[in-house]
Amino acid sequence: MIGAVVGRCPACGAPGAFDGVYRLRPRCARCGVVFERDGGTWLGAAALAYALAVVAMGLFAWATVPGRGLYAGLEFWLVGVAVATVVLVYRPVKGWWLWVTWAAGWVHRDGEDPEGASATPGGGRP
Ligand SMILES: [Zn+2]
Repeated sequence: MIGAVVGRCPACGAPGAFDGVYRLRPRCARCGVVFERDGGTWLGAAALAYALAVVAMGLFAWATVPGRGLYAGLEFWLVGVAVATVVLVYRPVKGWWLWVTWAAGWVHRDGEDPEGASATPGGGRP
């Protein structure tokens, strides 16, 4: 689980799945699995990061509003908390999401599609 959020390859555990702050390499340098098979693979990670931002805003409001009421500048604090949360959590969430897609069978080497193998029982012989 820790390996997921620090950017290790889910297939072989090699470090360095990321080659930028938020950008993943196209494939693992050690074992060759392709990290992104389809466009839109990372929408789930983005949605999860946004959901965590909403939770963080809720916690911030829960911690500050009861004592002070709806104070001036609250909306700016909430926006700041949301932006800071997304900036901080998107990378570990994306690393974790990579492991989720791997567990779902979407991250594999070329020619090793587990769904394709099961879809053609008998190996596709005539
Ligand atoms: Zn690997």
